[in-house]
Amino acid sequence: MTAFLKLLFRNRLAAMGAVVLTAILILVLITPLLPLQNPDATATADRFKRPFTEGYLLGTDHLGRDLASRLLHGTRLSLAVGVVAALIAATIGSAIGIVAGYFGGRTDNIIMRGVDMLMAFPYILLALAIVAALGPGLMNALIAVAAVNVPFFARNIRGITVGLAGREFIDAARLAGMGHTRIILTELLPNVLPVIIIAMSTTVGWMILETAGLSFLGLGSQPPQADLGSMLGEARSALISHPHTSIVPGIMIFLIVMSINLLGDGVRDALDPRLRSGALSRPRATTLVERAGDIPAATDDLLAIQNLETQFHVGKRIYRAVGGVSLAVKPGECLGVIGESGSGKSVTALSVMGLVASPPGVITGGAVRFQGEDLIGAPYESLRRKRGDRVAYIFQDPLSTLHPLYRVGEQLAEAIRSHHKLGKAEGRARAVQLLKDVRIPNAESRIDDYPHEMSGGMRQRVGIAMALANEPDVIIADEPTTALDVTVQAQILSLLDDLRRERGLAIIFITHDFGVVAQLCDRVAVMYAGRIVEEGPTRAVLDAPAHPYTRRLIACVPELGGGRRALAAIPGLPPAVDDLPSGCAFAPRCDKARESCRAGDIPLAGTHPRAVRCLYPEEAV
Ligand code: ADP
Ligand code: MG
Repeated sequence: MTAFLKLLFRNRLAAMGAVVLTAILILVLITPLLPLQNPDATATADRFKRPFTEGYLLGTDHLGRDLASRLLHGTRLSLAVGVVAALIAATIGSAIGIVAGYFGGRTDNIIMRGVDMLMAFPYILLALAIVAALGPGLMNALIAVAAVNVPFFARNIRGITVGLAGREFIDAARLAGMGHTRIILTELLPNVLPVIIIAMSTTVGWMILETAGLSFLGLGSQPPQADLGSMLGEARSALISHPHTSIVPGIMIFLIVMSINLLGDGVRDALDPRLRSGALSRPRATTLVERAGDIPAATDDLLAIQNLETQFHVGKRIYRAVGGVSLAVKPGECLGVIGESGSGKSVTALSVMGLVASPPGVITGGAVRFQGEDLIGAPYESLRRKRGDRVAYIFQDPLSTLHPLYRVGEQLAEAIRSHHKLGKAEGRARAVQLLKDVRIPNAESRIDDYPHEMSGGMRQRVGIAMALANEPDVIIADEPTTALDVTVQAQILSLLDDLRRERGLAIIFITHDFGVVAQLCDRVAVMYAGRIVEEGPTRAVLDAPAHPYTRRLIACVPELGGGRRALAAIPGLPPAVDDLPSGCAFAPRCDKARESCRAGDIPLAGTHPRAVRCLYPEEAV
């Protein structure tokens, strides 16, 4: 709640709206206590007094009634009617929307066609027709305004509910034996409530205006009762001769509607969790770079990550996700990067092409060189040309990276087309060839499948085909087989292995599984809390792990046919990267840690390509 308010008031306009609206609300709440004249008492002798005359702060109207008193009482009435109308419309509309969206099928069809019929009329006309049928009066105006706004809520909420009704947690509730009413009240309602509140906060201003409109036409509040609309209506005839009678209620309507809308927009932004960490701004096209210190010199590697530091700046906190990582690959080489989740593997990978979201991501040091050229801080256009064309990514979950509404063939052709000119027939032929390359059977017919028509393993193959589409030099694979079963994983691994042998691809393979590393990688780097703690040729590291962390990671892997052996879990958790201990980050979990381990920075020591960041390694390197 306090986080919500903080975010809301960071938005200046919303804060202004809140202040104005609160002032108005306080005024109308204490109106009965104020020493005001009777708003309906006429005094013909005092007609059209100007504002600030003796006894009349805001002057008088055509019947000599005190404008200040009428204004406050009128505002009270207008606000009450507008808010009640909004509540009624939101309740009825949301109920209709939830029922239609949850039950779907014929219920949905019948209800929504009824709503469509209401929507077919211009809504001020519809309101007029309802008041005409019910007779003029404030109550009837309220009913009319509420009625014409029901479809707006019904449509919005139905849309949200349809999306939610198919989700797993609703299925789980059904399996648990909950009835429809319970599911709607305890599962759906809490999820749509923020949307209802947002829709209300952005429409209540409109409803106040609409009620005022009906009163202005004489269909709402009846004389002598004042509301803002009827005050404006009565002042109309004296608009030129005595403008203050219109200006006073006019300004009040303006203030109310403006403040409610500004506040409503603020509430909408603050309630959207996606905007929360990003401080209400859109992510940039490439990661923000604020490098201090020296930029490492070029090497002859194909892709070299040099002393890379990537941080997340959230408010005053600094998360050191990657704290000085160096990795390099040559053509045809496969480098494994291994570590527990949260050790900074993905952030390292995404930093290469400037894909870490900013805000909050910032690259604060080091370089990433592709064929010697530094990519950190390179112009967006140069990065864009290399993304997917020279350096391609494969992600863990192919269902979330493939567009659900396009056929896979079209998406493959599209991936090529964003870098190279390609005709339609040619694109199709290329897509078929790519699917064949990744060993998808019946590629010619599979090409017209949608992503949801494929199995997980198939989709991951499409993900690999997509990465191969432009014949890149480097593929960065971020846990590509984590979501797959072992047989499919083995097929995908051997596929990647063939591809790098056939095409001289360099692969950076991120995983948390030593088995996978052993199968595929020439070299391996072990990451912990954003730094590399050990690296070397795969066999050497597996046979003689030097860092206590690596040894314990390997001990966590069960061996088939290796007899019974107690699996040793590593006690404790990786440290939070916004509060790293000084010295070795693994020391708190290490059974060999001594005082000196906690004293200061520990360098990565050894003879290339073997290195370890430990003062008391298990093996000499
Ligand atoms: P993994 O090794 O599992 O791929 P990541 O690279 O995704 O780990 O994350 C590394 C660290 O960065 C984690 O500790 C995570 O909490 C932190 N992190 C990632 N994204 C953000 C973010 N947007 N804001 C703050 N911290 C983040
Ligand atoms: Mg990850």
